[in-house]
Amino acid sequence: MGKLFVANYKMNGDKIFFRSVNALNKVKLKDTTLVLCPPFVYMRELKAKRFSLGAQDVCESLNTKPTGEIGIEMLSDLNIEYVIVGHSDRRKLGENNVQIANKAKIACQHNITPIVCVGEEKYRSSIEDIAEQVRVIFKEVHGDVIFAYEPIWAIGTGKIPTLSKINRAIELIKSIACEFGKECRVLYGGSVNLSNYQELLKSDADGFLVGGLSLKLDNFIKVLQGVDNG
Ligand code: PEP
Repeated sequence: MGKLFVANYKMNGDKIFFRSVNALNKVKLKDTTLVLCPPFVYMRELKAKRFSLGAQDVCESLNTKPTGEIGIEMLSDLNIEYVIVGHSDRRKLGENNVQIANKAKIACQHNITPIVCVGEEKYRSSIEDIAEQVRVIFKEVHGDVIFAYEPIWAIGTGKIPTLSKINRAIELIKSIACEFGKECRVLYGGSVNLSNYQELLKSDADGFLVGGLSLKLDNFIKVLQGVDNG
């Protein structure tokens, strides 16, 4: 299976920027699936031909219609194939493991693949800190789930873990999947850039989730092509 490359634009960009992102339709990839996750309001600026669309979050509720939220059926309606859940930005706003598991569950029920972000807080935190974040998901969710191992201390800081730490985290996530009789892909995310991606390619990650890198289209394309060839 080829690599997965996910761009999380977070709360960045504008109409002009997202129109320019459509240039990614011209990038020929051999074996890499590209998923772009723009802010909801710019979703319609992206004309997905050679990439898939992902949402950055979804409302966990199916029955109520809370103001300001976006429901899973709306994502289906827009042919969105992936949804990021449990990003550390959302966890910081108070989202807990149970809510995140519910989001992943309703995504699977609607044939949308959840990309669940997990990661330890500090450089010196133990990898074991992510075990509960992962276990809750497998207890609740029965469909295909992709994990993104994103150490919180590495996001947007320019710092990355050692390959050995990344591989230990990936192994832990896959071994928990195994306990539940499942398999899953695990991406790495956190400060992936033009200078470190070749090193990160030596890890066991099944792909990458990138934030800041997605804002510079030329660098983004270089890394994307490098990953596709790597
Ligand atoms: C992220 O926010 O998920 C992320 C990976 O950001 P960055 O690549 O900028 O560290």
